[in-house]
Amino acid sequence: MYWCEYCQKAEEPVQKREEQYHDEVDTRNYEVTYIDVCPDCGHELYLTADECPICGEFKDARHDFCHDCEQSAKIVVSYAIDALENRLPDYAKSASTNDLIDALINELYDRKEE
Ligand SMILES: [Zn+2]
Ligand SMILES: [Zn+2]
Repeated sequence: MYWCEYCQKAEEPVQKREEQYHDEVDTRNYEVTYIDVCPDCGHELYLTADECPICGEFKDARHDFCHDCEQSAKIVVSYAIDALENRLPDYAKSASTNDLIDALINELYDRKEE
């Protein structure tokens, strides 16, 4: 599966025939090559797509998460940082990582209900 930068989605490529003329040698000679192109927009596909580890949707393989999950992760992380700095700074020093994660998740739920 490939990632189309223009359509911003994963595409199964179609092959496009290209003829390259070698004018400088002999105009009757040309080379036929096939390139992988996007079936929707026709642009060449050269980026691989893989699955987002959070939601399983296809994404540009150069990114860790898909765009939507990246945005959600940023919001969650910013809430967590805010909670650690303002509401749980003392708890964070003594709690185990698991307890701290649970406390942060509770903070997120509380925030949603506000
Ligand atoms: Zn495309
Ligand atoms: Zn995702």
